[in-house]
Amino acid sequence: MSEREEFKAIQLELFALQRTQKQLTLRLTQLRLLVRRLGVALRKMCIRCEIEMDAEQFYRCARYSDGLYPYCRDCKRTMNRDGHRRVA
Ligand SMILES: [Zn+2]
Repeated sequence: MSEREEFKAIQLELFALQRTQKQLTLRLTQLRLLVRRLGVALRKMCIRCEIEMDAEQFYRCARYSDGLYPYCRDCKRTMNRDGHRRVA
């Protein structure tokens, strides 16, 4: 594959990813709406302990796309505590 072809291929792939990202955001919004309407709990998996639990088990953080920390409250607490211990 020439560099020019590679450039085109990567650019197309990027466009496709951007479209997917947009669809994901839309689906997440729809999911949030249904969660509120049905009164069911939104589930999320902690990337540290890998346990799936209710979204309430995660601290809120606007920095992340779904508005929640990727770590559960327990893991966040443990990480904070370990952080302090390392400093002390
Ligand atoms: Zn966790």
